[in-house]
Amino acid sequence: MHPVAEPGLGADDARLIEGVLGGQRRALAKAITLAESSRPDHQQRAAAVLDALLPRTGNSIRVGITGVPGVGKSTFIECLGLHLIDAGHRIAVLAVDPSSTVSGGSILGDKTRMEELSHREEAFIRPSPSAGALGGVAEKTREAMLLCEAAGFDVIVVETVGVGQSETTVAGMTDIFVVLQLPNAGDDLQAIKKGVIELADLVVFNKADIDGPAADAAVAQMKSALSLLRPGSEHWRPPVLKVSAAKSSGIAEMWATVERYQATMSAAGEFEARRHRQATAWMWQLIDSGLRHRFRDHPGIRAALPGVAAAVEAGETTPTSAAHRLLNQLNRFF
Ligand code: GDP
Repeated sequence: MHPVAEPGLGADDARLIEGVLGGQRRALAKAITLAESSRPDHQQRAAAVLDALLPRTGNSIRVGITGVPGVGKSTFIECLGLHLIDAGHRIAVLAVDPSSTVSGGSILGDKTRMEELSHREEAFIRPSPSAGALGGVAEKTREAMLLCEAAGFDVIVVETVGVGQSETTVAGMTDIFVVLQLPNAGDDLQAIKKGVIELADLVVFNKADIDGPAADAAVAQMKSALSLLRPGSEHWRPPVLKVSAAKSSGIAEMWATVERYQATMSAAGEFEARRHRQATAWMWQLIDSGLRHRFRDHPGIRAALPGVAAAVEAGETTPTSAAHRLLNQLNRFF
């Protein structure tokens, strides 16, 4: 069915859909803003727009990129983006910035990042949604990703920083997760300790131009560290590369590795399987957060909650029996 014929869509939204499908960046930005809005009427419209566009999504490679502030993420993504545009791709860059949800400030910085890329017609760069908890931000980023795909962007980069849960979140919404590292002693140890390396499908040491031998040593060390970990797939051992984003060296090899990953995992059936798992996990996440919302908002629960919480705090009842009591009330609502 043609999307415009969807029931329940107003003329404005039908135009919005046409604009997104036509690859117009302004329409895409508007659709993402609609999806990011917390107003219930906007949410309803956004859901209808997304439903209509859904058949046109999925046709991309979704690349997650993480690294500490200063590792060179924006320099790297700009360089990669320009390389990909030269090769005929269209690239969208989205961000999941946990800092922006907590403090209102952003580690990933403002719009001056990736300046050259941002001026290219074939690129679309969107900062992290700022409202809500990380779960909410992730949900919005997932929707933005689908909208970008519907607008014809065939490479979606989702960038994050190594803070809290954000890396797991981004690895859980992308096809390939790339960990950018500095060839400093200690940096790789940090990443191994935090468990980030276990999420990596590809490890890239940036700034190899500063000290080539140090970069080679870091690559070798990381390779041996990775050989001790159980790989996530029997078909793929995460490669370790060195690049210089500033000097544009190693970028083509990095992208060739991403393409090799996609071909290998597709042939093994794991590429699609990962997406299916992610879609199911996303649905459950939305159900979980929806249930939590409805539970907390229900008048009966709201009336009972302060008393029960106080009893738990005072040690008059156990958390287990308190939770049971409240949850049992649900039987009356559902
Ligand atoms: P981000 O915070 O991870 O986005 O890092 P940026 O891309 O802003 O880079 C931080 C600093 O490192 C900037 O001053 C960059 O110019 C510099 N930088 C990035 N990549 C390289 C590189 O490959 N070599 C060198 N020498 N400097 C780099």
